[in-house]
Amino acid sequence: MSVAALLNRYAPAVCLGTAVAAAGYRRRALSRSGAVGAAVVGAITHSAGSWRWSAPLLAFFAGSSALSRLERGSTGGQAIAAMTERGSRRDLAQVLANGGVGAFAALWRIAAPHPRWASAFAGAYAAANSDTWATEIGALSPTAPRMIFSGREVQPGTSGAVTPTGLAGAVAGSALIGVVAGCTLEGPYPLRRAAAITIAGMAGSLADSVAGATIQAGYRCPRCREATERHMHRCGTATILVRGHAWCSNEVVNALCTAVGAGIALLLTSPPIPRPLDPAPTKAALVVPCSSPHHRSPDRSRPSATTRPQSGDQLWRPTHRARRGGQQPPAATSWA
Ligand SMILES: [Zn+2]
Repeated sequence: MSVAALLNRYAPAVCLGTAVAAAGYRRRALSRSGAVGAAVVGAITHSAGSWRWSAPLLAFFAGSSALSRLERGSTGGQAIAAMTERGSRRDLAQVLANGGVGAFAALWRIAAPHPRWASAFAGAYAAANSDTWATEIGALSPTAPRMIFSGREVQPGTSGAVTPTGLAGAVAGSALIGVVAGCTLEGPYPLRRAAAITIAGMAGSLADSVAGATIQAGYRCPRCREATERHMHRCGTATILVRGHAWCSNEVVNALCTAVGAGIALLLTSPPIPRPLDPAPTKAALVVPCSSPHHRSPDRSRPSATTRPQSGDQLWRPTHRARRGGQQPPAATSWA
C-alpha cells in the first residue's frame, strides 16, 4: 500500500481519535494517560469501520460524559465518589477496561473482515454504557441501594448493589447503543440487531453487578472504618481486604462486563436465521446450459453466485443460488 493510500485510509481515523480524546481531556473527563488511550481506541475503531463504527463509540462517550456531570452534582454521586475514590478524570486503565474489548473486536475486523466483529463491538459498548448509566442514573435514586443477592441495604457506590432507578438507567444505556449500532453497523435486520445488542448490554451490566457482589475486591479503612475500593484510603491509611479477591479490581470487573456483552451479542447474532428454502429445482434448472452462443439461457446475463466476487462486507448476503446447487451457505451468512 502506498503512503498516499495509507494516509487516505488512516488519517481521518487518527484525526477523529485525537479530536475526541482532546475534547475529553479539555472537559476533564479524561486524564492525560486516559486521553492517549481514548485516541488509540478511537483511531482503531474508525479504521475498522469508518463512521459506522465510530457512531456507537461517540454515543457512549458523549452520553457518559454528560451523565457524569449530572451525577457529580447529586448527593448519591458524591457518596459514590467517596466510596470509589476515583477522580472525575478516567485514566488509561479505566479507558481500556471500558473500551479494550471493543478495540479488540475492531482489530479483528481489520485483520479478518467479518460482520460478527461488529456485533461483538456493539455488545461490548452496550454493556459498558449500560453499566455506566446504571451507576450515574442510580446515583439519583431516592432509595438506598440493596445488594443484588442478599437484598441488604448498603451505602451508594457499593459494588454489586442495585436500585430500581439504576436498573432503568441500565436499560436506557444499553438501548441507546443498541439503536445506534442497529442503525449504523453493517448487516440487515437493524431492529433485531438493535434488540440483540440491547439484551447483550443488559447481560453484561448484570454480570458486572454479580461480579461486584461476589468476587470484586472490597476494602475497609481500619482508621476511619469506611468502606472503599482502594488499597490506600484518602486519610493515608493502608486499607484491609474485607471481601472478594485482591486481583479483582473495578477495572477487571468492567472489562469482564464488556466481554460478557460482546460474547452474548455474538451468540445472539451468529446463528444463521433460517429462511424458507427455495422450491425444489425444476427439471429445466437441472439441465446443464449449453455453451454454444446460439443457445443463450435467460440467466446467462447475470453472474452466478459461485463466480460473483464477495468482499468481507458482502459475505452476509444470502446466496440462494449457492443453496439451490446443494451447497451449504458459509457460516458468514448470518445477519450479524
Ligand atoms: Zn481512612
